[in-house]
Amino acid sequence: MAKQIQAKLIEKTRISKDIYKFKIQADEIVKDSKPGNFIEIRVSQNTEPFLRRPISIYNIEQEEGTLEFIFQVKGKGTQILSQKQEGEKIDIIGPLGFGTFKIEGYEKLAIIRRRNRNIPTIRTCKTSQKTKQTSTNISRIQK
Ligand SMILES: Cc1cc2nc3c(=O)[nH]c(=O)nc-3n(C[C@H](O)[C@H](O)[C@H](O)COP(=O)(O)OP(=O)(O)OC[C@H]3O[C@@H](n4cnc5c(N)ncnc54)[C@H](O)[C@@H]3O)c2cc1C
Repeated sequence: MAKQIQAKLIEKTRISKDIYKFKIQADEIVKDSKPGNFIEIRVSQNTEPFLRRPISIYNIEQEEGTLEFIFQVKGKGTQILSQKQEGEKIDIIGPLGFGTFKIEGYEKLAIIRRRNRNIPTIRTCKTSQKTKQTSTNISRIQK
């Protein structure tokens, strides 16, 4: 079930000019999270921007209770988010979405993704490696 938490930003990495990776402490969300889930982030305590921003869960570490997400600065919301500093708390709701279907029990997987839309599939690939499944990751498919 989705929960609203104040998650501490424990690691902020600037991957490129406008792309960031955040690692947050989110035990309550991590324990219920499945590959393909996303979170909703309240980027500001003010009413502007009013709506939460949805961001996919890129990775989780069950034992640590940590969650990572990667985002590109697009507009006002992600711009404000990119200015958060390590140690700050971030208001998030999650896990949300149905996630990918259960992948255990299948011998081979074909993971199909669009270029630059690969964040949720990375965790599916990682899970398939843990369960020793063969996964074929097909990317660079244009719409
Ligand atoms: C389920 C889900 C998962 C997602 N996961 C990820 C993820 O893992 N990583 C990620 O980077 N993104 C992800 N996104 C996309 C992300 O939510 C959006 O990029 C983010 O909400 C943009 O918010 P923003 O406030 O920065 O931009 P907004 O201000 O909402 O702007 C969005 C776009 O509109 C343009 N725009 C804004 N105002 C105007 C205007 N006045 N005139 C013209 N154009 C304008 C902006 O330039 C921008 O391109 C996901 C979205 C969904 C629905």
